[in-house]
Amino acid sequence: MQFCNLKKQYQELKPEIDNAIAQVLEHGMYVGGPEVGELEKKCTDFTGAKFAKACSSGTDALVLALMAYDVGAGDYVITTPFTFIATAECISLVGAKPLFVDIDPQTYNICPKKLKELLDTTDIPEDKIKGVITVDLYGQCADYDAIREAMKGHDLFLVQDAAQSFGAAYKGKNAGSQGDIGTTSFFPAKPFGCYGDGGMVFTDDAELDLKLNWLRNHGQNERYNHKIIGMNGRLDTIQCAVLNAKFDRFRYVEIKNRNNAADKYMALLKPLADAGKVVLPYVMPDSVHVWAQFTLKVEDRDGLMAHLQKNDIPCAIHYPKPLHMQEAFADLGYKKGDFPICEEMGKKVISLPMCAYKEDGEIEEVCEVISSFYK
Ligand SMILES: *Cc1c(COP(=O)(O)O)cnc(C)c1O
Repeated sequence: MQFCNLKKQYQELKPEIDNAIAQVLEHGMYVGGPEVGELEKKCTDFTGAKFAKACSSGTDALVLALMAYDVGAGDYVITTPFTFIATAECISLVGAKPLFVDIDPQTYNICPKKLKELLDTTDIPEDKIKGVITVDLYGQCADYDAIREAMKGHDLFLVQDAAQSFGAAYKGKNAGSQGDIGTTSFFPAKPFGCYGDGGMVFTDDAELDLKLNWLRNHGQNERYNHKIIGMNGRLDTIQCAVLNAKFDRFRYVEIKNRNNAADKYMALLKPLADAGKVVLPYVMPDSVHVWAQFTLKVEDRDGLMAHLQKNDIPCAIHYPKPLHMQEAFADLGYKKGDFPICEEMGKKVISLPMCAYKEDGEIEEVCEVISSFYK
């Protein structure tokens, strides 16, 4: 069994994808070809964000967002320590410092109450804290109404790291459109992936969009006229062509497939949840999950992992070591015990095989093996 069967998806769409790539090879505009704009148009139509700019990765999307807000040395940006490192790495990359806030124990996303507490009690000067980066962990949007409420009265931007949640929705609006800037990733294993690295930046603000456009192309507003310092943050035409070919299948079939797989897991694991052995993922009301990961909180995780391995069932830990405990962030001065909920989850979460193309019987098999462990 595979954790995520990317080859199966390719086989399903082979003629469309091969043809889309062949067209790029023929027209020869390998960077900045017409497929880039096509993808951006599909992405604005889908998310409801006014503007979208394709870029080189989900990490670069975050860096571009912070560059657009001129975040730099001496500044702070608030985020969660329970995420992939890119969410906080981008803050350090532009010379600023991450300020961590613990997570909500049900959703594992940033806790709005603790966010407000930090803003109300910190002795860092108000004008040095520039904004908040939220993460839609495992493919479910954070609680944006509560987050906006917590940010009220403070002059802060909200960047939504939707790397895992492209295709999810919060109160009727698709992910990517909740922040002042939204970012996503098209890394192959994300819900909507290309065949290499890729990302997208979203905003409703025309001025920010223009700046993002310059930033991803060396700060150029016209050829060889560099208005600001930027970077090479463009997305290759071939990757855009692949995503265009996959877009409708993702939108109309794969999101449903992922939710059907999650529903099956939920039903089959309910007895174990009722018995207190595992905690099933919590889905917020008025929210569509896209299940980048199907992640349980379990007792005796080491034992369960060994048992799964013995039965040839792949699994993964997202994430074993919270960011405030990472050596790369040692200079921030955080210590063990600073974010107890996130530290507990790091020890108890386990992600099960998930993709839009699970074979018949695979989920049943995973659940049987898990049940046999807790018997
Ligand atoms: C994958 C991921 C990223 C980074 O995306 P890349 O395209 O791999 O650079 C950022 N944030 C989160 C939460 C992610 O899961």
